[in-house]
Amino acid sequence: MEKQAYLDMVSKHTEKILETERYIWAHPESGFKEWNTSAYMAKIFEDAGYTLNYAGDIPGFYTDIDTGKPGPKILILGELDALVAGTHKQAWNGCAHACGHNAQCAGLVGIALALKEPGALDGLCGSIRLMAVPAEELIEIGYRDSLRRQGIIHYLGGKVEFMYRGYMDGCDIAFMFHTGIRNDGIVFACGKGANGCMAKDVVYKGKASHAGGSPQKGINALYAATLGLQAINCLRETFTDDDHIRVHPIMEANGSAVNIIPAKATVSTFVRGATMDSIIAANKKVNRALAAGALAMGAEVEISDRPGYAPLINAPALQEVAKECMIAVAGQDKVQFTDSWGSGSTDMGDLSAVMPAMHPHVAGAAGTSHGDDYEIADPYMACVMSAQAQLLMAVELLKDNGARAKHVIDTFQPVYPSKEAYFEAVNQLMTDRGLVTYTENGAEVNF
Ligand SMILES: [Zn+2]
Ligand SMILES: [Zn+2]
Repeated sequence: MEKQAYLDMVSKHTEKILETERYIWAHPESGFKEWNTSAYMAKIFEDAGYTLNYAGDIPGFYTDIDTGKPGPKILILGELDALVAGTHKQAWNGCAHACGHNAQCAGLVGIALALKEPGALDGLCGSIRLMAVPAEELIEIGYRDSLRRQGIIHYLGGKVEFMYRGYMDGCDIAFMFHTGIRNDGIVFACGKGANGCMAKDVVYKGKASHAGGSPQKGINALYAATLGLQAINCLRETFTDDDHIRVHPIMEANGSAVNIIPAKATVSTFVRGATMDSIIAANKKVNRALAAGALAMGAEVEISDRPGYAPLINAPALQEVAKECMIAVAGQDKVQFTDSWGSGSTDMGDLSAVMPAMHPHVAGAAGTSHGDDYEIADPYMACVMSAQAQLLMAVELLKDNGARAKHVIDTFQPVYPSKEAYFEAVNQLMTDRGLVTYTENGAEVNF
């Protein structure tokens, strides 16, 4: 079938696709709380005749479209979650889709409706799994960790959790298109990959006392924390350029009253980097810096480290397929593939560590990513054209007895040989411990 026929299968559903974009934009929910978004999406899928597998105790679902002929399984994802962004110009319940995941959901709807069109699966083999995943943004770590402690989730990212649960078992290739902002006319863009990350919560513990009358009886946890942050800042020039290390701490509500020496100060940060090894090495330095702040003041410091996301490595052979399909949708001069490296993180990285995967960007958003002015300026581009290119990719991979999918699978070089090996590696990042133990004559530091 001609490529144009597949493009038409998507564009005939433009109204429904754009309606989905607007609805989800207006009803943002943050990670693992996207119950309404998930239900809204599920209804569209079920109305279209799909049978869904629900995650159940967390939002999200997936469905399989079988061609009836054996072959590879292609996984296409859309993210359900919004950001906590109370200052966004159109925030609702303190949240906003300041990363454009609403457009991804609309794109996924476009793919789902197109695949129900007569002839859509003709000449294809294998199967396609469409998946609406929760919780891509790595935020509200405390809340997610409480879900983890309750045994509801095991990992903080939605895709990582879905992978852990086995919802991606049997999938051979995965991709999704993330909404992006371009001011240069480019529609589809893809770089080499992006940073991985880990999440860290830090609690400094001091001793309260009268801030005016007897500060000498207290231990100022807030000062210890600010010294720790200062020490991290002094380390920045030691990070190697190629490792793309990013450490960006925030201090949360600290101190109880202005006339009390703060007994507690909390800091949260990510440590990001281009490889798991560089993240682990940078994290050791960060811990050493945090310990220094505690030692200076005689305070305690406790850390809770959690695995975040693995570095994203876009599979080169899959990129070749994507590029052709993107050009078919938008034209040669609107598609840009580069060797650039993203300094943000996504849990598509975790998939890319164990299976060929790809996470390109489709333009159509405007404003600032994660900013208060973020908006979907060109929903047709962000949703409909995105769905068209993704559908073409699935077709290209699964036609001709899956020849191109097999090439992508055969040329893939995984970072970890299996999902089990991957989980074993990231589990090493999980720790809750103190960094400083005071002894009779000094202190022991364990960073
Ligand atoms: Zn984001
Ligand atoms: Zn995002």
